[in-house]
Parts: sequence; structure tokens; C-alpha cells
Amino acid sequence: MIRNSFSDDTEALCYLVEGRDYALLIDSILGMGNLKAFCETQTDKPVILANTHAHSDHFGGNFFFDSCYMPHRNIGFFQNSINGVKKQQLIEMAKERARDEYRDLIQPDENFTDWFPMKVYPLYDGDVFDLGERKIEVIEVGGHTAGSVVLIDPLTRIAYSGDSCNGNTLLEFPNSLPIISSMRALLHLKENQNN
Ligand SMILES: [Zn+2]
Repeated sequence: MIRNSFSDDTEALCYLVEGRDYALLIDSILGMGNLKAFCETQTDKPVILANTHAHSDHFGGNFFFDSCYMPHRNIGFFQNSINGVKKQQLIEMAKERARDEYRDLIQPDENFTDWFPMKVYPLYDGDVFDLGERKIEVIEVGGHTAGSVVLIDPLTRIAYSGDSCNGNTLLEFPNSLPIISSMRALLHLKENQNN
């Protein structure tokens, strides 16, 4: 589990799951800190990046990577969200959020990058990431956003749920689905868990 520690003002989390051949980074938090460089301190495997959905506290660190996997229904929203966000804005946001002792350490360095169009591969319900002796399954659980996914590791029985089902599942965004659709999607997740 990876989170920013320079601030108390964020609950954004992401996860690095390692297999024999590849590591999978699930979400990329805020884009404050060079996440690719950090992952390389944790694994020597090639890192594949997958986003559970296209909200900026889940994809902000994407732009340190060459490509990402994104739920196919979120790709348009992702491309619209990244337009024009500049490194300097992110630095200012980080300084605002930072604890006092970290504020002066935040500089316009390689820990920040402009957001720019990147290579995006679509994720579909039923897809599987084969990391080598570890397979991560993709389940579409739309609701929080249309097309949000949950990633399942059957080996450890951990569900990386993004914002699809947590203690505060928000359904009021422009790209959220109605409650009934979210409930049907959660039943779809439950069916998969029963297999
Ligand atoms: Zn979200």
C-alpha cells in the first residue's frame, strides 16, 4: 500500500502487487511525488499501471508512466480530465496540503510533471492480468463511475475496490450511475466472489 505522507489532507491510496514476472500498480494517487521512481525502489519487475476509475486522486501519478490500463467506459472522461493541468498547479496544491515541516521541501523538481495525453489500454469485465504465478482479475462494478472496476487477487483473497464499494461510496458525480445500477453491479461482484 502506498500513500503520500507529506500531507494529512488526503486519504488517497494505491497498491503495488508483485508477481513472478510483473508488478501491477493499482491506481496512482495524486501526482505529487514520482511514483514510478518509488515503485522501482520496491520491485525490480516491470510495472504495469491499472486504474480502478478516472478520478484524479486515483490517476494523478499516471503521467510518470508510459501507459496505463483504464476501464473502457472511463477513457473519454480520463482524456477530458487531464487537459491543461500543469506541473506548477500541482506544486501549489501540494504546498497547500503539506504539513508545515514538509512545505519547504516541495520544489519544482522531478516529483511533479505536467498531465498530458498518454497511451491508454481499455479494461473490460473479465480481463485478467497474469503477473506470473499470480493472476489479478478485473470485475466491472459501475456506480461510483460508469465502468469503475474492482481488481481481485484470488491468491490472497484481496479485493482492490477503488471507490466502487467502501465505507463512503459516492454516487453523485456526473459520470456516476443510478443507485439501482450500482446495486446490480455489486451483485455482479458478489457472484464473482462466490466462484
Ligand atoms: Zn473516485
